[in-house]
Amino acid sequence: MATTEKILDFNSVWEYSPAPESTDHIKLDDKYDLFINGEFVAPKNGKYFRTENPATGKKIAKVAEASKADVDNAVRAARTAYNKYWSKMPAKERSKYIFRIARIMQERSRELSVIESLDGGKPIRESRDIDIPLSAAHFFYYAGWADKLEYAFPGRKTKPLGVAGQIIPWNFPLLMAAWKIAPALATGNTVVLKPAETTPLTAMKLAEIIQEADLPPGVVNIITGAGETGRAIVNHPGLDKIAFTGSTVVGKYIQKTLAGTGKKYSLELGGKAANIIFEEADIDQAVEGIINAIFFNQGHVCCAGSRLLIQEGIADEVVHKLKNRMETLIIGDPLDKNTDIGAINSKAQLKRINELVSAGIDEGGTVYQPNCTLPNSGYWFKPTLFTEVSQSHRIVQEEIFGPVLAIQTFRTVDEAIEKANNTPYGLSGGVWTDKGSKIFKVTKQINAGIIWANTFNKFDPTSPFGGYKESGMGREGGLHGLLPYVELI
Ligand code: NAD
Repeated sequence: MATTEKILDFNSVWEYSPAPESTDHIKLDDKYDLFINGEFVAPKNGKYFRTENPATGKKIAKVAEASKADVDNAVRAARTAYNKYWSKMPAKERSKYIFRIARIMQERSRELSVIESLDGGKPIRESRDIDIPLSAAHFFYYAGWADKLEYAFPGRKTKPLGVAGQIIPWNFPLLMAAWKIAPALATGNTVVLKPAETTPLTAMKLAEIIQEADLPPGVVNIITGAGETGRAIVNHPGLDKIAFTGSTVVGKYIQKTLAGTGKKYSLELGGKAANIIFEEADIDQAVEGIINAIFFNQGHVCCAGSRLLIQEGIADEVVHKLKNRMETLIIGDPLDKNTDIGAINSKAQLKRINELVSAGIDEGGTVYQPNCTLPNSGYWFKPTLFTEVSQSHRIVQEEIFGPVLAIQTFRTVDEAIEKANNTPYGLSGGVWTDKGSKIFKVTKQINAGIIWANTFNKFDPTSPFGGYKESGMGREGGLHGLLPYVELI
């Protein structure tokens, strides 16, 4: 796959002026407490941890670290709210509260977008155009279901499970909170939610929104902390369900812990998606889609297209075009509206990316990175592609969760399908071809929960999302997303 043509130096052709989003309109406190029973309360042990801006490495605020005692209080508040208010309230009244959350979220969308980018490192374009509008859309969508559950499951009645413990990751902080809270409330459950320790701030803003929406106290409790707090939630005997999104390692721990307890659980875990480009595909469209699939949002997407399978005859052309496009990507200030690639979410995540990229080089892969400079402070990684890699290489098998693409070639449709399926994961995939019949053949045979054709990373609240194999169990989104929160009677 040697490329003979020269890669263009786009940086010398044009430069964009800075276009930073204003931060004047946001209000952040120095310290955030736990949101339990409708109030912000200090953690019992008085411990706080810092959340920082990964683009600078500077502290933004102190955030409470919930201990077992705080988890206990939150679960108790959620149980009381379930018995006293939420399970007794007519469904159409419940839906009014959920609609209210959605509307306030829309009203505060500029503020939420900026905070999401500050705390998580993702480009403002992503938080402004994807994360926040989609979060509000999920609340709108599930608010609509609250009083129509009998149509979701015709001939069956639904019964809420009770109190759900919900644990989410750092890559789509507010969106993951919306995916979890909206269907749980719509089906009549109350919740205790824990955001990731590196991105707690939009969840605390959501707590403010829930207060503003005047939900009965204890219906939604939001507590912060790291793995220990998560463990205390998983092990709490007063919960009826655990909903988890995060790594496969922690997902397996949760599955083992909950075995035999009678608690229900749903798991949304890691991925190692393959994009497959066939030779008849529109190559320019595919290249743009692949860039979007792995480099935008720093590859911090569980369903990111981190593998690329190219049909042999077009491999040189595709790789060449990819390299050219990589030269034009703008890396830097997440708050700049022109930025394509923001900061890596944390020092720990940067270490993991570096480790896996070194392993790829040691195993004989050929690396390409564009000619760009990275900011001096904070956590950054250049968009990277690997060629000359094979199925057994770690970078082909393991989730990197960074802007790193592993490229392989194939000759036949069957070889592409076999390679696409040959990882422990089964979350997503992509097919690029102008032949409709091939789309049907290939998508049917790829073991993944979500497969896009001639596009990638498109989300909608009406559409279910979830994985096969080590990518998890259960579905979120759409009508399917109601099921993990009800018993059918
Ligand atoms: P992680 O598993 O390290 O952490 C996820 C959450 O679990 C965090 O809130 C963390 O504090 C908590 N946690 C950590 N240890 C725990 C324990 N022992 N018990 C209970 N909770 C614990 O994952 P991460 O690094 O935050 O997120 C990245 C991972 O999330 C990737 O693997 C990605 O693919 C996955 N993800 C999956 C989806 C999906 O829908 N399938 C969506 C987003 C992210």
